[in-house]
Amino acid sequence: MSVLVWIEQIDGQAVHSSWEVLGKGRELADSLGSPLVALVVGHGVEAVAEEARGYGPDTVLLADDPALERFRLQPYAAALQEAIRRADASVILASATTNGRTLTGLVACQNQAGLAPDAVDLRIEEGKLVAVRSVYSGNILSDIYFDTDQQFASVRPRSFPAPEAGEAQGAIQPLPVPVDEGQVPEKILEVKPADTSEISLTDARIIVSGGRGVAKDPELGFKLVSELADVLGAAVGASRAAVDAGYIPYKHQVGQTGKTVKPDLYIAAGISGAIQHLAGMGQSKVIVAINKDPDAPIFERANYGIVGDLFQVLPALTKEFKKRLGKEEKE
Ligand SMILES: Cc1cc2nc3c(=O)[nH]c(=O)nc-3n(C[C@H](O)[C@H](O)[C@H](O)COP(=O)(O)OP(=O)(O)OC[C@H]3O[C@@H](n4cnc5c(N)ncnc54)[C@H](O)[C@@H]3O)c2cc1C
Repeated sequence: MSVLVWIEQIDGQAVHSSWEVLGKGRELADSLGSPLVALVVGHGVEAVAEEARGYGPDTVLLADDPALERFRLQPYAAALQEAIRRADASVILASATTNGRTLTGLVACQNQAGLAPDAVDLRIEEGKLVAVRSVYSGNILSDIYFDTDQQFASVRPRSFPAPEAGEAQGAIQPLPVPVDEGQVPEKILEVKPADTSEISLTDARIIVSGGRGVAKDPELGFKLVSELADVLGAAVGASRAAVDAGYIPYKHQVGQTGKTVKPDLYIAAGISGAIQHLAGMGQSKVIVAINKDPDAPIFERANYGIVGDLFQVLPALTKEFKKRLGKEEKE
């Protein structure tokens, strides 16, 4: 029996939230009295396996093959299956990124095992995993118990603190995964790099989001949102209404049909606070709402509310933060 954690990597860089899961995995493995195994899949990713050794696993399995260079569901599922077999894993965890959710979903189905997607906490009871999920836009926390021998969970990024990297431990063991390219339906024809200067929404400690409230001048509205985000080192989010209206691309959408985020600070400008938006950001530690309507539902959820026009409030905040953070431009 073991606890197995998939360490996601993109272009040879580990996805940061994978370390959060590995850190929690150590705690779970200790409660079970079983080993912790990390799985790294890719091509030329020894450095990620080496980095994983610093986060406390007993073993790091390294599936390295040209066919595994980029995430494709079928070969990665084969690698995870092979790792489960090798590690005799009963608890299988991944970060709840798009890939993490997809991968755990497929492999749990293949193995007819229980899966708790997007869990916000994990613990062990009577030798089995118990996963906590947040439902009804964070109003209820539900405990998920498993009645299968294998228990899968994907974990919402920022649910656990990232562990400090320590002394490297555990051996790296190669994990051969034969991939028959002819049997893989997904082919990667072209790779377009994303804008790496952009802060990822799911990893962000601070998010500034804009909604339909920018409607009278959407371009200026999102420029003001971005300027405040820049000063705070924050990611830019949006409501679905703003995305549907074409003010900003979908990748910025927060909510039920967008990204689920859990920053320390979420600033919502011109967002009414619909339940589907709250579903994605209601777990934020501190919520600040800027809305010209004092009765907007977002104020019921906000820790701090500013009743006012975002076109005036955002630049005022940006100016004040620049001053306080010593980021004023020299005249
Ligand atoms: C199945 C389903 C899934 C959905 N998924 C999502 C999702 O993932 N994410 C999501 O966000 N929504 C989602 N929605 C849509 C959701 O129901 C709301 O329609 C949407 O969140 C509203 O966006 P909004 O708050 O920007 O717009 P509105 O509700 O129109 O609110 C705009 C707000 O801006 C304020 N305002 C206007 N002008 C100004 C100004 N100058 N200064 C300050 N404030 C101003 C107004 O008072 C108002 O409160 C979903 C809906 C469904 C049915």
